Amino acid sequence: MLNQFAGLTSPKIKSLKLLYSLVRKLGPIRINTLTEITGYKHVTCTRLLDELVQEGLIYDSGIGESSGGRKPLMYIIKPDAYYLIGVEITNLYTTVLLLDLNLDILDVKKLRMDSQCTGEYTLNFVSRCVDELLSKHKIQKEKLLGIGIGVLDPIDKETGVIINPHLFPAGGWDSLNIVDYLQQNNNTHVFIDNGTNLAALAEYRKNYWKETDNLVFVSSDMGIRCGTILQGRLVRNKMEMDEALGHMVVDIHGRRCSCGSYGCLQAYSSLPAIRNEVVRRIKRGHASYLQDRVNDIEDIDFHHILNALEQEDPLCLEVVKDAAYYFGIGLSNLIFLLSPDIVVCGGTLVPKPLFYEVVSETAQNRLMHYPNSHVQIIKSTAAYNIVAQGAGCMVLDYFTEEILP
Ligand SMILES: [Zn+2]
Repeated sequence: MLNQFAGLTSPKIKSLKLLYSLVRKLGPIRINTLTEITGYKHVTCTRLLDELVQEGLIYDSGIGESSGGRKPLMYIIKPDAYYLIGVEITNLYTTVLLLDLNLDILDVKKLRMDSQCTGEYTLNFVSRCVDELLSKHKIQKEKLLGIGIGVLDPIDKETGVIINPHLFPAGGWDSLNIVDYLQQNNNTHVFIDNGTNLAALAEYRKNYWKETDNLVFVSSDMGIRCGTILQGRLVRNKMEMDEALGHMVVDIHGRRCSCGSYGCLQAYSSLPAIRNEVVRRIKRGHASYLQDRVNDIEDIDFHHILNALEQEDPLCLEVVKDAAYYFGIGLSNLIFLLSPDIVVCGGTLVPKPLFYEVVSETAQNRLMHYPNSHVQIIKSTAAYNIVAQGAGCMVLDYFTEEILP
């Protein structure tokens, strides 16, 4: 029945969709709470919920506390009513997840991207995984709601093509319509979005949906990106602005950025910026544990630096501390603008020493003048599969969360 929820539907299906969405968000939940939120009469609400139970979409969790009389029914969604495939395609790996409706990962397949991984080769791998995963877990094809894809490079949403796919180790991506190709080969719904948006979506739906409507996900890796949830919805735009945070100016007389401008956050807090600053300081004579690790200082890469951070190399710690300070300034600007309740920090540097702590403290210090601001800055739950989980979530959301006039 979930697949009847999409598009223009009858008033009754609309009511079923609303109730299912509320149970998904707030479950375990009692009928009384649902009647309060929806305004439906108790008898109507009971009848509709019964129908969802009959359809195998929700059930009574059995955890209701009795206050003397009968135990109240506490509804939750049935996670195995349908299944989702979530995919992340990057220039390093392609990851395919089989997910249940709670977005819990039932199985994972990975492809290491090398010179044979052309566009078609990679998408054929995805299709093969879909068949294998469904058959291994004895899931009928009708139980698959669809396939969601997350990619890091900008996508042309109209044509389903990756714009400027220059970092892939093999070709064949330039005019490949990923959505059409997978739709034809798998005969199911296929959706695509950028990875940062999907990480924001997965963090939000899995961990913070009950608490807030406004959340921002930020990450610093090769680029500095952000994905925004406003009023419970992912903010999308045609401009592909997920990297815009990286080009927010934090010092107008500052360092030259790769975009040609001066003082962008990208020039201070991204991995390439941190790497360049470490090399510059060693050349100037600062001592570092890395000097003995490489023949030529120019050979230092991110992996060396991430490793040196674990060893608490004073120079790398100092550079990362500065990078985090600038990131905290950029983040506080973003918080002033969007007023999120929660900021989730992701990316390679967050689990390493110092970075997250300095970012969080710097941003909170700048917000102190606004005592009504109670933003929480939280570390990402870190799962490496968060983008692919978000890709699966986008499929489920298409059926249950879309608001139509
Ligand atoms: Zn820039």
